[in-house]
Amino acid sequence: MPITKGAKAVDINKRKIINGDDADVVQLYPMRHTFAWDAYMVGNSNHWLPTEISMQRDIEQWKSRDVLTDDERKAFETVLGFFTTADSIAANNVVLALYKHITSPECRMYLLRQGYEEAIHTHAYQYIVESLGMDEARIFNMYRNVEAIYNKDNLVLNLNEGIFDPMFKTGTFENDQKFLENLCVFSLILEGIFFYSSFAVMFGFQRQNKLTGSAEQIQYIMRDESQHLNFGINMINTIKKEQPELWTKEFERRIIELVKRAVVLEYTFATEVFPRGIFGMNAEGFKKYIEHIADRRLERVGLPPQYNVENPFPWMSEMIDLNKEKNFFETRVTEYKTGGTLDW
Ligand code: FE
Repeated sequence: MPITKGAKAVDINKRKIINGDDADVVQLYPMRHTFAWDAYMVGNSNHWLPTEISMQRDIEQWKSRDVLTDDERKAFETVLGFFTTADSIAANNVVLALYKHITSPECRMYLLRQGYEEAIHTHAYQYIVESLGMDEARIFNMYRNVEAIYNKDNLVLNLNEGIFDPMFKTGTFENDQKFLENLCVFSLILEGIFFYSSFAVMFGFQRQNKLTGSAEQIQYIMRDESQHLNFGINMINTIKKEQPELWTKEFERRIIELVKRAVVLEYTFATEVFPRGIFGMNAEGFKKYIEHIADRRLERVGLPPQYNVENPFPWMSEMIDLNKEKNFFETRVTEYKTGGTLDW
């Protein structure tokens, strides 16, 4: 991308999420996609690190033979088995697939923040596994050994393969649709559906006053993830406006069909996590919950809901609302080094 000396100032009307004027990917201002900057600022003010949360009580509860049942232990481990690799898949998608093709500097700016947050999430799972003295190799390898996790990861990885190809380029109808499909799979399915039953499991523990340090880690993660999801949906809806020809009836049918496949995989995963159900949550409740959130994701990109079911876990939306209001700094000790205290 050679720079033309003395070229005219950037015309923000030419700025697009993909296929924009590629001479301006490094020039942040004037800005067009302000939602990306807003998300970047929110991300910064939500900054946190896993090591700030005390895991002491979780360690005692995990070691004790009387606090957790075998079913609860299995559910907790299986959920961690999904989490430990899922955020690495998300990070790869952000850095290796999306970033390169996005021509809006403000969107790239947020993607850099998002990539870092995915790393913090992977760190949080590693920190839980290490604190509780779990078998790290077994938990981190579950995505290959537990079929229900493997199937979820495989759906995302298979669909995203095309845009990971070093030869892939946007700019044709077919490839732009492929890119938009990746974004839908990544945002609506991986970040929007595949994480949520695992979040619900963790908050189920918290509601029983069990493993609350781990659940607090997950609260921070869910707060970040709801920003990732919003950002992804904003990008999808902006591409829809910038290149309306891509969003065909055929494309809509394909996205709905993929979401429905994801719902089945997520339901199968929940059955693996709760073969017998715990905390009043069972596979049937999870099926409804997954269908309920899948409908919400479809609606956000203007697609019709497919299931129309009541939310069986209304407390989950309370958790998300709480996230917005809760002062996260109350429960942790924050000592970020600022200018005056930097020690070189
Ligand atoms: Fe994410």
